Amino acid sequence: MTQFDNSYARLPERFTAAVMPTQVKAPQLIAFNKPLAEELGLDLADADDARLAQIFSGNTILQGSEPLAMAYAGHQFGGFVPQLGDGRAILLGEVVDTSGKRRDIQLKGSGRTPFSRRGDGRAALGPVLREYIVSESMYALGIPATRALAAVTTGERVQRETGLPGGVFTRVAASHIRVGTFQFFAAREDNEAIKALADHVIDRHYPDARQAENPYLAMLQGIAAHQLELIARWLMVGFIHGVMNTDNMAVSGETIDFGPCAFLDEYQPMKVFSSIDAQGRYAYNNQPGIAQWNIARLAECLLPLLDENVENAAEMANGVLADFAKTFPQRWLSGFRQKLGLDTQEDDDEALVQDLLEQIKLGEVDFTLAFRRLCDAAEGNVEPFRSMFIDLHSIDTWLARWKERAGREVTLPKERLVNMRATNPAIIPRNHRIEELIAAAVEDGDFEPFHDMLKAIAKPFEELPEFSVYMQPPMGHERVFRTFCGT
Ligand code: AMP
Ligand code: MG
Repeated sequence: MTQFDNSYARLPERFTAAVMPTQVKAPQLIAFNKPLAEELGLDLADADDARLAQIFSGNTILQGSEPLAMAYAGHQFGGFVPQLGDGRAILLGEVVDTSGKRRDIQLKGSGRTPFSRRGDGRAALGPVLREYIVSESMYALGIPATRALAAVTTGERVQRETGLPGGVFTRVAASHIRVGTFQFFAAREDNEAIKALADHVIDRHYPDARQAENPYLAMLQGIAAHQLELIARWLMVGFIHGVMNTDNMAVSGETIDFGPCAFLDEYQPMKVFSSIDAQGRYAYNNQPGIAQWNIARLAECLLPLLDENVENAAEMANGVLADFAKTFPQRWLSGFRQKLGLDTQEDDDEALVQDLLEQIKLGEVDFTLAFRRLCDAAEGNVEPFRSMFIDLHSIDTWLARWKERAGREVTLPKERLVNMRATNPAIIPRNHRIEELIAAAVEDGDFEPFHDMLKAIAKPFEELPEFSVYMQPPMGHERVFRTFCGT
């Protein structure tokens, strides 16, 4: 029997609302992540598709599960909303996985909750498939993110701009606690709850902070450090989250709530895909600054815990923010050095990276392929890289500088090449492929493209001939300009 241990449900009553998933008419299994289920220790090895569909639609509740919706607030596009909460998500409970890590299992699209406001609590099939693909891509790319455990269709339709087939997505997270969870209680001046939440977060995600002189400051530092690392990793693969509202930032440091997220095709530093991001607040290159802004909102909530003296508390919080601002560019540079196959540090490295990015930008070159083809160039096969650019003179000049610089590395070229290929993916979940598989599923009930892509994105650092179609950037008519929210 699957062992649930629901620590969040044991927090004070005002943290959650107990709520059962709403039954759906005719659930059918689209996908079930068996290796992940095994990792979680779920006792489902004997369950057939029909039973899995019942479980992951919310029609059947596993023993030990205590379904609930979590309360949270959040800054949405900079404006504070004191009450959001799980309006279309229901936490089934927590399990301790086979490696001893506590993991949340949550249904998304499983019906209304006390936090639904005017929403229907449902999810359309398209966003369910998108989140499944992108979560598993992030995992394969080695970037912390919530995982996909299952997807089902409901046999019901949801009303959006048009009627669409409904789905339920099951995700697994280290926790679903967000910056906005702290904000919910800070907005109510509920210091007791902030402390209880912080203690829970320390126990769950930052146990070392307990030993620090000031555990709450250490927790804030830990969260800031995890976010910094996460955003640097996003930038390295051209990922744009799309809605970095404070309610979509997990304190665990995992990527969460993939709404209108997208990966860059051609490199444009201020690229925005999301249809709702009119001001470009969450553009690719704005993400580090936004992460820092979100951490500042978190720090404000924690002031009463940091020090009794307001000025001391503010000074500590500002220290964390200043540290973020100072450290991010260093981490970014080390990441891009790694993409260029450089282990050592030299003063001119930043210019070398920036100049390449400038060339990629000016030539409107595909971000992912440029770095992947640079791996070939490191092996002596320069033409595939070079021929992506229009200004050959400039890229030749750059290549000569890079070669000279790489010549001063101590690591063997062969070893550096392996590292480069393990850093620069060949396959990212390209927007046009995602749109294509969603269209096949929604319009024709054909899930083959979804399953095909799932196989391809599982091996992002290999160039297998059978997956070469997933490496290709979009042709003119395939280009995706806008992505839409999960709702
Ligand atoms: P998100 O777009 O996932 O960041 O959600 C923002 C807020 O809107 C959260 O409080 C969600 O629970 C809520 N929400 C989004 N879609 C729905 C829906 N279909 N029904 C109810 N609440 C929703
Ligand atoms: Mg959200």
